[in-house]
Amino acid sequence: MNRVDLEAVAARIRPAHTVFLFTHEFADGDALGSMVALVLFLRSMGKTVHAFVPGKVQNVYRFLGTDELLNTMSAQMASEAVRTERVTCLSADAADLDRLGEWKSLFLAGAERLVIDHHGTNTGFGDVCAVDASASSCCEVLLDLFSVVDVTLVDAKIASALYAGLMADTGSFQYANTGVQSFLHGARLVELGASPDAIACSIYEGKPYAALRLTAAAVSASRLLYAGQVVVSHVTREMLEHSGALDEDTDGITDELRRIAGTKVVVVFREALDGSVKVSLRGKYGFDVRRIATVFGGGGHPLAAGCTIATGLGEAEALVLTELDRYLGPSRI
Ligand code: AMP
Ligand code: MN
Ligand code: MN
Repeated sequence: MNRVDLEAVAARIRPAHTVFLFTHEFADGDALGSMVALVLFLRSMGKTVHAFVPGKVQNVYRFLGTDELLNTMSAQMASEAVRTERVTCLSADAADLDRLGEWKSLFLAGAERLVIDHHGTNTGFGDVCAVDASASSCCEVLLDLFSVVDVTLVDAKIASALYAGLMADTGSFQYANTGVQSFLHGARLVELGASPDAIACSIYEGKPYAALRLTAAAVSASRLLYAGQVVVSHVTREMLEHSGALDEDTDGITDELRRIAGTKVVVVFREALDGSVKVSLRGKYGFDVRRIATVFGGGGHPLAAGCTIATGLGEAEALVLTELDRYLGPSRI
């Protein structure tokens, strides 16, 4: 990545007194790891810091201290603060403004706006942006930033949060985005106090039983299409209620379905509370699924992308399959 970009972000951060942090909705491990690490790092620089995470924070990352460290200021106090003082707004792991969900207007109201990310599709929505599309995770970019600012401030808690994000976005160093840099950053984080086994145990062996039951139901409901090149499944509100699982427990389903030999594409449709459909896409063997997600206003990475479609489950599935027909059709059997 261009070191100049990181220097430019660091130059804005150093004199800042109050920093508000932002990330994308349905915050994943990279988003939450980034938020926790930034809160702790910037506080250790002596700044006043508040993180505004859209929606509900997933339970599985609670071990990072999400309850105490994130969403520590009300919306009302935050809008008062941006009116009366100079607030630096910093977004991490979000590719565009809309991904900030209900906090979008607060971000825009800041005295200056900074963007740190690793999505190639980032729209550059800040005054200063550091986007490294070669980084596997935003947490990797943050370690680079912290190294530019003052690496001695990175303690075991900060290193653990960054490691959790790196692990989440590389699927524990398994996905195609895992490169030399991922291991080098991982190694450095272990040196700085992150414990790979404790973090893996918290994330992968800390699931509620209901989440496993939901995964089992989604695997049962899955279908192979296009001669086994695509596996499709769905999660209805009824399946969530029946299993006792939460929306956030759907994360493991794509991981389970991507295990099938020969499938190039995994698609999981989830009925959201507001009736819209959240689509998760994963590509294998180099099949670019982002080109499907972007058709519906979504985005992400070539091999892991998503979008939200404001229709019912059946119609959303029909729309996505029509797109897949362009690459894998005409026969869906
Ligand atoms: P998910 O399937 O939710 O785990 O998301 C996979 C990837 O796609 C992540 O990098 C997300 O940031 C991205 N993504 C998911 N949903 C959207 C969306 N509605 N718009 C843009 N990017 C998305
Ligand atoms: Mn993310
Ligand atoms: Mn990420």
